[in-house]
Amino acid sequence: MFDQGSRTDLSTEPVKETVVRQRTLKSVIKCTGVGLHSGHNITMTIHPAGVNHGVVFRRIDVTDVDNVVPARWDHVVDTRLCSVLGNKDGVTIGTVEHVMAALAGCGVDNVEIEIDGGEVPIMDGSSEPFVHLIENAGVVEQNAPRRVIRILKRVEVGYGSGHVAISPAETQVMDFQIDFNSNVVKRQEMSLKVVNGAFRKELSKARTFGFLHEVEALWEAGLAKGGSLDNAIVVSHDGIMNKDGLRFDDEFVRHKVLDAIGDLYLAGAPILGRFEGVCSGHAANNKLLQALFADDDAWTWDVLSGDAVHFAVDGGIYADPMDAIV
Ligand SMILES: [Zn+2]
Repeated sequence: MFDQGSRTDLSTEPVKETVVRQRTLKSVIKCTGVGLHSGHNITMTIHPAGVNHGVVFRRIDVTDVDNVVPARWDHVVDTRLCSVLGNKDGVTIGTVEHVMAALAGCGVDNVEIEIDGGEVPIMDGSSEPFVHLIENAGVVEQNAPRRVIRILKRVEVGYGSGHVAISPAETQVMDFQIDFNSNVVKRQEMSLKVVNGAFRKELSKARTFGFLHEVEALWEAGLAKGGSLDNAIVVSHDGIMNKDGLRFDDEFVRHKVLDAIGDLYLAGAPILGRFEGVCSGHAANNKLLQALFADDDAWTWDVLSGDAVHFAVDGGIYADPMDAIV
């Protein structure tokens, strides 16, 4: 059901013009795992949601104040170790980027994510467990066109020794370059069109990583309590500490692209544009969205139809048409 042949069947539908529609899950997803920073066991349940709902988190362990936190760039409250979202009552959700990347990469627009703790479970440090759950649950099309953010002009933000930029393109393109002061990681670069299953195939398995001296400093500060070789690549000065090694030779830059896709999905819709990241991270990604949305001439809402359907931001997961879900 996920193949390209099934996808073309959409064009034979009698009523609708060929248009990329919003999508949600066919059934509920549930997973339990450790929180990278708290070390607590956390359960996350992802429910289907109606059109134009977007991605919304709900902290079910918080009952005395507003426990709803929209997954949007203007709710990002901290970017030092991961992307943290918060609301006006100070309720926060951390480490949202890997599940956001999975939703973006699988083309899921509308879900409500219930969570019983302050951060998304780290799972294996990649997006793959979430992609696997989304595929098992299935995805359905909804009776409304998907709105996308079309970039109209280049926006760039300098940040420390790196920069991030976004410029016009007909689909989502990710260019990334890293250059760590390390014998092991060194310089890596990647350029990828996020179409036709590229997210799932090229990015979803790439794990988060840390340098041993940084990980030790975090532990001393009482942070990264859930961090281990089961959910992160740990790099020492002379090699990779994980006994099974890397999943890709350039797993580091692939994970940085995955993070950026998750952070960019906090725009509230897929972005049609070419992202460029040079030695950047969560803070720069959020600054880029702030700069983009501060400039009305830099972007516009759009809907993909006709030939543009073939350039849709799409994880390659076929969705069943289901007009009943609105
Ligand atoms: Zn990450």
